[in-house]
Amino acid sequence: MKAKYADIGSINVRCIEECAELIHILCKVERFGLENFHPDKPEVKNWQLVLQEIEDVERLFGTLKRCMDKGTRRGGKQIADKKVLFGQVAALTAENERLRRLATLLPPTIL
Ligand SMILES: [Mg+2]
Repeated sequence: MKAKYADIGSINVRCIEECAELIHILCKVERFGLENFHPDKPEVKNWQLVLQEIEDVERLFGTLKRCMDKGTRRGGKQIADKKVLFGQVAALTAENERLRRLATLLPPTIL
């Protein structure tokens, strides 16, 4: 991957693209061999391109894992926040029910 394109697109798209590039060079290796090369770049062997693409994929996998970890933690906080909110609603509902029962004990003239 060229450095100027490193941050273009979502992490998912970049990961997909790097996997596709690895698949592409592995297909070339299957057809032409590890020691073969692209006619435009005879100085770079296919096995070198495989290693470059593996590095790209590994780097993107690392970034993707960090994003997933952050997302999971953020999701966990949202769940915790919802539990707090649910607890507050449940407490208010219980208090409302307690006050409603107390109100039934009052003489009708006060209401
Ligand atoms: Mg690549």
